[in-house]
Amino acid sequence: MKANSVPAKLVEEAAKIASRLCEPDTLSIPYAHKLAVTAARNIGIQLRSSEELSYCVICRKGPFTKRGYYLHLVRVHGSLIRQMIADEIKRLEESYLGQTG
Ligand SMILES: [Zn+2]
Repeated sequence: MKANSVPAKLVEEAAKIASRLCEPDTLSIPYAHKLAVTAARNIGIQLRSSEELSYCVICRKGPFTKRGYYLHLVRVHGSLIRQMIADEIKRLEESYLGQTG
C-alpha cells in the first residue's frame, strides 16, 4: 500500500494507541483491511511512551498528557506515521507471503 492511500483514520487510531487513549486490543476499524488494522496497531505500540506523562517517541518533546500526545502525533508526525503504517503493511504482506510459500 502506498503511503498516500493509507486512510487518515488509521493514522488517528495508531496515535490513539500510542497516547494510551485506546488499548491495542480494542482497536476496531470494521471497513479497513485486517492487515492495515494490524499495521496501525503495531505502529501505535512502537510509538507508545512508557511513562504516564508521555514524551514523544519520535522527537522527544513533552511531556504531554494523553490527549496532548495524541494531538501532537497527528498534527506534527501524521505524514511520518502514515509512511510507517504503509511500510508496516508491506512488511506484514511479505511475512504472510513467506509463510505460505
Ligand atoms: Zn514529536
